[in-house]
Amino acid sequence: MDPLIKQILHLNCVDLSYEGRGFCRDLNDNVILVNYLFPGEEALVEVDYKRAGLYYGHIKKLEKESPERIKPLCPFSFRCGGCEFQSLSYKSQLAFKSKLVKDQLKKIAHLDVDVKETIGMDDPYYYRNKIQMPFALDKDGHVVYGFYKEGSHEVVPISNCVIEDKRANLIIGEIKTAMDELGVLPYDETTRKGYIRHAIVRTSYVYKEVMLILVSAKEGFPEQDALLQKIVSNCPELTSIYLNVNSSFGSKIMGEKNILLYGESHIKDSLCGLDFIISPSSFYQTNPVMTSILYQKAMEGASLKKDDVVLDAYSGTGTIGLVAAKYVSKVIGVEINHDAVTDALANAKANKIDNYEAYVDDASNFIERMAKEGKRLDVVFMDPPRKGSDERFLSSLLKMKPDRIVYISCNPLSLARDLAFIKDAYDIEDVQPVDLFPETGHVETVCELSLRNADKH
Ligand code: SAH
Repeated sequence: MDPLIKQILHLNCVDLSYEGRGFCRDLNDNVILVNYLFPGEEALVEVDYKRAGLYYGHIKKLEKESPERIKPLCPFSFRCGGCEFQSLSYKSQLAFKSKLVKDQLKKIAHLDVDVKETIGMDDPYYYRNKIQMPFALDKDGHVVYGFYKEGSHEVVPISNCVIEDKRANLIIGEIKTAMDELGVLPYDETTRKGYIRHAIVRTSYVYKEVMLILVSAKEGFPEQDALLQKIVSNCPELTSIYLNVNSSFGSKIMGEKNILLYGESHIKDSLCGLDFIISPSSFYQTNPVMTSILYQKAMEGASLKKDDVVLDAYSGTGTIGLVAAKYVSKVIGVEINHDAVTDALANAKANKIDNYEAYVDDASNFIERMAKEGKRLDVVFMDPPRKGSDERFLSSLLKMKPDRIVYISCNPLSLARDLAFIKDAYDIEDVQPVDLFPETGHVETVCELSLRNADKH
């Protein structure tokens, strides 16, 4: 075993890692990352494990506290792993996020650019419109739900998550009570017995609409109708209930099949003056208040003109492209998830937008084909998943030379890598982090790029 593992060291925290862990070095210059330890603090730390050359540890005893340390609202915050920053002041969380983006752009892309102050929430709690909680039996045989302890599949029981919509917390509590009363068993990953794996609740911010998705290991389970009846009568706010079937072994939360058990097939929410339908499997930003601000920033960054042809790549349910549509001549959406594109087209219709098209495709295949066919694009919005875009997509951008690119990123590392690829042809006009994920280490960034003058067509 590595001699450092299990050792207790006295460490000074000098920075935060990109994942929001306290960054420390021991006397031999080994890097040790420590959860819930903040810059300026000192602690006795036990080293737990080593991964990819870095050590990870936890606080045994905090010896010097930062003035930025606060009492977390959630009593489970040190065990759950969902919120790295509940005990860090919100002001410091926002400062960390801007610094993180700036540091990664410098380190990975060698770009020394101004990064604006992260736009934060007035009230950074109870903001998430999607909650997903695993169910299990505790050692006394009672149904429990909560979050997985970090790095494991052990369920930490949490009855009131302080970043989730309050309605969702109540509904999941009712499901647990009904399961206990009816003897409906949660699924056990080891024995592969039982049924209910997760409950997912999606809430509309603007409308009084709520969707419940019960993820079951089997397509139907004993007492299903009775469970449904109890949930419906105890949770009148529910608009829609689905059964999602996930019989896989792995840690994927949802399976492919969604069966409507009750109510409407969709819920709807409203963003930037448009209505959007949400179906059980499609992506929809989880912080509705800050998403409106994010999209507003994206629109400003794109300086849209009425003759523009716009690509909304990685378009999800079409939100960004549909918000842009009224300012431009045409918007084309491309997205790999079939259901999301179906929703996007329905959203266009419901909002009476007729200059919008959307296609189910891999964004790189799609734009490569557009480049080959000599198509014109004036503005590209790109909002890829955490792993970022890829060289085929970015090379096609360099060929097509859209005037403006607005890159919306949920991961500063892949943002920096992708910007490095196009930075010789594009000027970075503005980098604006927006806090879509308060209390956590995640950061969303809108980055506005414009084609260098010499390259304009
Ligand atoms: N722009 C949307 C969605 C962003 S999330 C919004 O703001 O709501 C990223 C989206 O990229 C997801 O909907 C995901 O399904 C999609 N996606 C992932 N890989 C893709 C690929 N290779 N090609 C196209 N879309 C992809």
